[in-house]
Amino acid sequence: MSKIINLSLIALAQAHHDHAAIIASEGIFTYRDLLDASARVASCFLNGEDDLREKRVAFLIPPGFHYAATQWGIWRAGGIAVPLCVFHPQPELQYIIDDSRASIVVAHPDFAKVLRPIAETRGLRFLLNSQTLSQTKVALPQIDAQRRAMIIYTSGTTSKPKGVVATHKNIQAQVTALVSAWEWTANDHVLHVLPLHHIHGIINSLTCALWAGAKCEILPKFDAEEVWRRFAAGNVTLFMAVPTIYVKLIEAWEAASPAQQKIMSEACVRMRLMVSGSAALPIHVLEKWQEITNHVLLERYGMTEIGMALSNPLHGQRVPGCVGAPLPNVEVKRVDENGNAVAPGTPGEILIKGPGVFLEYWGKPDATKRAFRDGWFCTGDIAMVENGVYRILGRSSVDIIKTGGYKVSALDIEEVLRTHPQIKECAVIGIADETWGERVAAALMLKPGCVMTLDALRSWAKERLAAYKIPSRILVLDELPRNAMGKVQKPQVTKLFKRT
Ligand code: AMP
Repeated sequence: MSKIINLSLIALAQAHHDHAAIIASEGIFTYRDLLDASARVASCFLNGEDDLREKRVAFLIPPGFHYAATQWGIWRAGGIAVPLCVFHPQPELQYIIDDSRASIVVAHPDFAKVLRPIAETRGLRFLLNSQTLSQTKVALPQIDAQRRAMIIYTSGTTSKPKGVVATHKNIQAQVTALVSAWEWTANDHVLHVLPLHHIHGIINSLTCALWAGAKCEILPKFDAEEVWRRFAAGNVTLFMAVPTIYVKLIEAWEAASPAQQKIMSEACVRMRLMVSGSAALPIHVLEKWQEITNHVLLERYGMTEIGMALSNPLHGQRVPGCVGAPLPNVEVKRVDENGNAVAPGTPGEILIKGPGVFLEYWGKPDATKRAFRDGWFCTGDIAMVENGVYRILGRSSVDIIKTGGYKVSALDIEEVLRTHPQIKECAVIGIADETWGERVAAALMLKPGCVMTLDALRSWAKERLAAYKIPSRILVLDELPRNAMGKVQKPQVTKLFKRT
């Protein structure tokens, strides 16, 4: 049996003792500080027990040193980490605490008011993160890598969020795939701006950095001006973000004076890699980013259930609009609706196998069973392959529109609509229709001072899209509905159309 593989993270940290691990609003902390703090936190959680034996510990701590010390403390005590989202309202926090059947709830003082009553009414142990750090250290258990390590809740499109359970082994596989593909080393310095209740921030940025012995500089939240200032400071080598963050950074660059723009652009030359993921990266954003920073964003594809699966190369050509090829130790195949493999040029659902694939949906054996076919995880994402390079067409449930016998990709239509000089952003959906099955509808955010009619859009689109792909309904919005990760919430867009 593979023993304490998860705590490779701890063993590796010991080799970097005096190297800075986390730079955050609380201060600068070395790997030694992180090891010491997480041992104290673990001792506090144990509270006289020898091992938490997979008890769930839900924690709500803003991105920073205390977050990392708590996460490691849970793992070192043998618990399962259940990170909560700082943007979630009380009912959602309550749902996750109940669904995960957490025994311990840890809160940063800013969230004590929300979490204490939830914990107290359920008789759960409630701790402030400051309390956990002051504990005297006790002997910690040995943890088998097959054990459950973390439950991340994913926002389901139609159902309540499901808890995605990853073992220590899964996490190790997800992290080592990226450390090797993107060549993380102890000399790296990542600027971390992502929420820490989601795989992107937890695995790709924070845990990869700590695995590699690198520095993780954490901003409590994303702030475009602050990010540019940190880039200009000249230490950052790596940056990971979602497309909306790159859009905001571009806006901040455009708002700056020519002299400032020059400084901002030059700052990026010192970085070695900038990554985009969690949603499709519009090609015009990739192009604009390249123009102002000289970096071709590396786009990758992944999911909470599988970690990262596909990535453009670190060295070599990155194809705009595509997500590259399988990462190390990730098996990928694409199938039709009957489960038969499809030819490269034919759209097919992505199925994934490998050590990074999650263990189960927490407490939902039927949903877990439905998610797998012959040992392959069915992602629900549709893709094409051209010359070994994958292109995501969207989620089969919301982005593949079935209209008049055709199957069209909402992502493809969005990419075309974004080239309209008056359109700032858009979200394309299918709306149920008796004649066509579904009709193509587009929610639009327009550039300042612009107006748009359906007729005007349709006559512009006729030159650029096949007739069946042209939206037959539009809705102009000030903002598209997005989640905490900045992803457009298409079910909400559908609701907005239904209301009009
Ligand atoms: P999450 O589990 O929240 O990370 O969401 C995963 C989903 O985000 C995937 O199933 C895809 O639908 C979508 N996704 C992630 N990366 C990309 C990408 N580069 N392009 C298009 N969709 C993506």
